[in-house]
Amino acid sequence: MTALTDLSLAEARDGLAAKKFSALELAQAHVAAVEGARPLNAYLVETPEQALDGAAISDARIARNEARPLEGLPLAIKDLFCTLDVPTTAGSKILEGFRPPYESTVTAQLWRDGATMLGKVNLDEFAMGSANITSAYGHVENPWRRQGDNRPLVPGGSSGGSAAAVAARAALAATATDTGGSIRQPASFCGLVGLKPTYGRCSRWGVVAFASSLDQAGPMTRTVRDAAIMLTSMSGHDPKDSTSAAIPVPDFEKALTGDIKGLRVGIPREYRLDGMPDEIEKLWERGIDWLKDAGAVPVDVSLAMTKYALPVYYIIAPAEASSNLARYDGVRFGLRVPGETLDEMYENTRAQGFGPEVRRRILIGTYVLSAGYYDAYYLKAQKVRNLIAQDFDAAFKNCDVLLTPTAPSPAFAIGEKSDDPIAMYLNDVFTVTVNLAGLPGISVPAGLSKDGLPLGLQIIGRAFDEETVLRAGHAIERAANFTARPQFIAGEA
Ligand code: GLN
Repeated sequence: MTALTDLSLAEARDGLAAKKFSALELAQAHVAAVEGARPLNAYLVETPEQALDGAAISDARIARNEARPLEGLPLAIKDLFCTLDVPTTAGSKILEGFRPPYESTVTAQLWRDGATMLGKVNLDEFAMGSANITSAYGHVENPWRRQGDNRPLVPGGSSGGSAAAVAARAALAATATDTGGSIRQPASFCGLVGLKPTYGRCSRWGVVAFASSLDQAGPMTRTVRDAAIMLTSMSGHDPKDSTSAAIPVPDFEKALTGDIKGLRVGIPREYRLDGMPDEIEKLWERGIDWLKDAGAVPVDVSLAMTKYALPVYYIIAPAEASSNLARYDGVRFGLRVPGETLDEMYENTRAQGFGPEVRRRILIGTYVLSAGYYDAYYLKAQKVRNLIAQDFDAAFKNCDVLLTPTAPSPAFAIGEKSDDPIAMYLNDVFTVTVNLAGLPGISVPAGLSKDGLPLGLQIIGRAFDEETVLRAGHAIERAANFTARPQFIAGEA
């Protein structure tokens, strides 16, 4: 029999329903895997008692035929989601010791549906980064290695802990968040499926804010079906988040019909970057062929404003971050470093609490919002953001989804890009546009690089059309038949 930790979320659900194993056995196998995965530094907090206690309740419900949609399924939670009385750090020293007196809406919905928590997983500090190397609690290691090269690689970021835990079989699935690519890029780096829903699909309530107009929660899973199952539970209108959408939540799993005949797939010509590695270009071509073979129709589209997406993102995201992070002043949450005066206490706390990348963003954000520069930078960026969204509107007149690579490279070694913030920012060249326009996007593992590392393809859809995104992602998944496994599997090491 397959190891319990190797099952997909759907297989685990169906196995529990068929009483092939108990929720307690499933939880015990995962608790052991979480311990086995410690060398990756993916988990910041382990909560085995929550998983085991939850499993006992689940077994009782299954025995009474009262199983809920995610009954007894153990998950990892990105440490950006507030969890009732369980430490929540956002990867920052400034939130050390913070135990939220409330539960985020998304996690509350997962528990409502019967899922259980294995622990809180590592991330870049305040979700700022693309390699999970800005966390105050240390780097996360990618469970994959290059062929013939034993250097540790980054898992991508900011949801690096979510990706490493799911890839190493130390969770059936995880929650993650995506402000500019933080679900899709780590999914691509770790051979996983990562889905960033439409802005407003999942409540942001109780998720530590980075850039409020861009942040979205979403699932990190090993299959497209699992992403659909997770999304169904995570979605829905929340009166506590005024930007969450009052739009009915379909059963996303039902969207996976396997039929994409006649689907028009836009290929944005501006995404063919100069100097893009050959293997990424080839993977993209292969993706087009797969969709064509399944009956879809490729169409050439233009997203001409894409070249401004990164500069626009790196004005808007830091601007919103500088405002959101003003609340960490040593008075209300986490760390407090005393001083002679109140101002000195603020300064000491913020100087010691925030790491260098977060400080850089606060400085940039404060600058672009300051009198005299607001019009030149922030307002201008908002206008270009609007043009980027209009590009997508125009493209979606001629196609139903878009197909692009997820990231311009496979995973890199720890230290390879960390001294150059601009090189690091380029990781998100194919993903940030989607956040700026508020659209849904999925990354699906599609092949291996010449070094044997996973590479993802991205499907982008119309707002609130996750069903078509999932359906097209499913077609890629079936054609790619990605069965490669990382070198590090928890418990096998
Ligand atoms: N890498 C991007 C950044 O550093 C995106 C991060 C994210 O999506 N949270 O801001």
